[in-house]
Amino acid sequence: MMAALFLLAGAYIQFILCLLFPLVYTAITTKLLHREKYLLCYMATHIEIILIVITLILLSGWDCSFDTYLFASITASFYFTFNNNKSGKHTKHGWVPLILSTFSILTFFLCWILCRVFQESFPNGFAPFGHPKYVDVFYIFNTVFAFGLIIIFSYLFVWELGNRQKALASQNEKLDELAHKDSLTKLLNRRSMDQMIALRMQEMKTSGKRFTMILCDIDDFKKVNDTYGHDAGDQVLVSVANTIQNSVRSNDEVCRWGGEEILILVNDPLDAASLAAERIRKNIESLTVDFHGQKIHITMTFGIAESFPGYRIEQLIRQADDKLYYGKKHGKNQVVTHLPKEEAADGEG
Ligand code: GH3
Ligand code: MG
Ligand code: MG
Repeated sequence: MMAALFLLAGAYIQFILCLLFPLVYTAITTKLLHREKYLLCYMATHIEIILIVITLILLSGWDCSFDTYLFASITASFYFTFNNNKSGKHTKHGWVPLILSTFSILTFFLCWILCRVFQESFPNGFAPFGHPKYVDVFYIFNTVFAFGLIIIFSYLFVWELGNRQKALASQNEKLDELAHKDSLTKLLNRRSMDQMIALRMQEMKTSGKRFTMILCDIDDFKKVNDTYGHDAGDQVLVSVANTIQNSVRSNDEVCRWGGEEILILVNDPLDAASLAAERIRKNIESLTVDFHGQKIHITMTFGIAESFPGYRIEQLIRQADDKLYYGKKHGKNQVVTHLPKEEAADGEG
């Protein structure tokens, strides 16, 4: 488009240069792009813009406003260097746009001084237009186009920044899930549950609010693995986790405590929690896991322990574990809320 304008303006030297510059530029940058030297390619582009601007200002005079491209080149240099750094890390290339921008500013003053020096003898440059009214046409065209470039590169910069923020947020979400959740069942992992229990203990100390711990374990899970295979066992674990998660309230916490052991923290005293455990037990009992057409049924045993001020975490877990163990020994598929006196002598208290 600019070449066409030069032709109309009767500026034939500028017209020829306008065709030659892109040819040389394309030849150089194609090679650089081929070698994936993106930063060098951008540096070459910036230098090419500077050279074109110097040449066109000297040939056509200051009034055509070619200097505005130098301003646009500054925004572009920051955008391209930022965009080149896909990893988002702080890189050693931060100096590139600063240096290139400095070149742009120096070029601006160099051209301005040269134009002042040669103003007397060459007021319209060394190769003035055949049709002088085109100076105004170029002034408007160059100013509008350069402002447009500034707006486009600034917008692209903000857009790219937004994209990176979104990518970072989703990456953080994934990392958070990796750190806090069990990869198979998507339940909380043991580490998160340890923190959660400690928090509840602290809350109990300050507000007196008690909570209950339900420890449950799939009955004869080894048989499931042996009969249907490990993948079937995994699918059973996922179904059990989902069933339990859907059977508790949103402020109760469920975690994969061990292999096929699940621990639930309920914000209720023992009686209400044992009703909840019984509801879960029934839901698990009536669960049918379909593994490639094979229907798998399982049951679970539950041990329940209520927190008391002065209890240590280990004591609470041990109580729930003892009750679970008792349930396993006495028929499985049940909720054990209290141990018979002789069994409890050691565990409770
Ligand atoms: P009990 O009723 O006494 O609990 O018997 P059980 O067979 O469930 O208990 P046991 O501790 O003998 O076996 C637990 C099995 O759970 C053994 C282990 O291979 C299996 N297991 C643990 N984690 C996973 C898992 O992530 N996937 C699968 N498929 N199996 C698992
Ligand atoms: Mg088991
Ligand atoms: Mg077990």
